[in-house]
Amino acid sequence: MQKKPIDSYQDNPYRQLPGIDTLLLQMPEATETWGRDAVIACLQGILADLRLALAADPATECHLSAIRQRAIRTLEDANAPSLTPVMNLTGTVLHTNLGRAVLPTEALTAITAVAGASSNLEFDLTLGARGDRESHVEGLICELTGAESATVVNNNAAAVLLVLNTLAVHREVPVSRGELVEIGGSFRIPDVMERSGCTLVETGATNRTHVQDYRDAITEKTALLMKVHTSNYCLQGFTHAVSEQTLAALAREYSLPLVVDLGSGNLVDFTALGLPEERTVAQVLADGADLVTFSGDKLLGGPQAGLIAGRHELVEAVRRNPLKRALRLDKMTLAALTETLKLYRDPARVTQRLPTLRMLTRPVEHIRKQADDLLAVVQSALSGTFRVTVANCQSQIGSGSLPIETLDSAALRIAPVSNKDADLRELQLKLRRLPVPIIGRLHQHALWLDLRCLEATQQAQFITQWQTLLP
Ligand SMILES: *Cc1c(COP(=O)(O)O)cnc(C)c1O
Repeated sequence: MQKKPIDSYQDNPYRQLPGIDTLLLQMPEATETWGRDAVIACLQGILADLRLALAADPATECHLSAIRQRAIRTLEDANAPSLTPVMNLTGTVLHTNLGRAVLPTEALTAITAVAGASSNLEFDLTLGARGDRESHVEGLICELTGAESATVVNNNAAAVLLVLNTLAVHREVPVSRGELVEIGGSFRIPDVMERSGCTLVETGATNRTHVQDYRDAITEKTALLMKVHTSNYCLQGFTHAVSEQTLAALAREYSLPLVVDLGSGNLVDFTALGLPEERTVAQVLADGADLVTFSGDKLLGGPQAGLIAGRHELVEAVRRNPLKRALRLDKMTLAALTETLKLYRDPARVTQRLPTLRMLTRPVEHIRKQADDLLAVVQSALSGTFRVTVANCQSQIGSGSLPIETLDSAALRIAPVSNKDADLRELQLKLRRLPVPIIGRLHQHALWLDLRCLEATQQAQFITQWQTLLP
């Protein structure tokens, strides 16, 4: 009887699998892009998978070109940037989960310049000696806020921590119960106070705090008086809070500094821009605050940073705190912050040049016109399955700024013909998988794309992306 050859495919289906060397020869660009070791590791993984698949089903497709394609796709996925731009059409302009403020071009240019070369970060070019990294920004903050001195750290949470740790460690700080806020789930004033080493003295009632409550809370252990912007919530009804002016007078009476955590910290008069009222850093300092802390990437419209501005000797004390070194800003952020702040020197144009203010002040008629213009392309990509309309909506400022004040806006409202939320979720997933993911907001069984933050420069890409979804 004739023996069957032992290497027939029937006996050993793995024989169909190409060898690593054969595959490598077929993908020179891949080894050039990702490196030989990475490509080999990827191919080994795929071949191992295929061996398992072949064991179960000897007819499994394992052609060389299919393996090659699968490897390239796997390598592309593995090397795609994890952090990537998205289109924020949620209607929340300063969205913490979506990176808060969009930086102005001037800041982007400055980041690239100092990141790709050595710089005079801490080198005084006039004296040829060691310089101070804050020299690039301090004067500008003082110029724009009227403060005597200023310093900068990694974010406003760090600013609060550092100020309290410098001025109040092992001592007491009275804070109104109505201001013991949690911001974004990760920053709670009471927790930060505890970690800074000071003792929080809760003052007043949640809805009402009077100047007498602060007076009663002051002891010989009191280090400072503190007022916290309630940012992301609002007390309404039978409420009373003590103004900065009144609190400043009380602080002076007891020779205590008044520290105000402003949160957002805007530098321009919002009412003049048709926006909800929000006091500026300069106003709060003029009202008698000795130190003010605020964020770089909220209403200010710059990079993530914490700014501390106010009286010279207090800022100096903060600067000398050894923790300052652990919280200092890097050169890219300093460059971006400096260029962002410079835009405020030209108040007539800052609302156009700074994306945050540009988006916040966009007239609703422009947004509605944009929605009208984009309606057809979105509707044709979804024809039959969803009904798209232009609808009025309300944008939010976000990041805890002015929580109850909203801005009139316009959206593309996408509702499933089936009325099924599952169809909406599927569409959302599709939009999140686009090269520049489109992020909207689910509301009343529809997906809303608030166009306030879709800038003119992104519009062509928005259209192209919808065209790729055409059925
Ligand atoms: C946002 C906010 C903070 C935290 O600021 P980050 O820059 O996000 O660290 C602290 N205090 C108040 C009142 C805020 O609104």
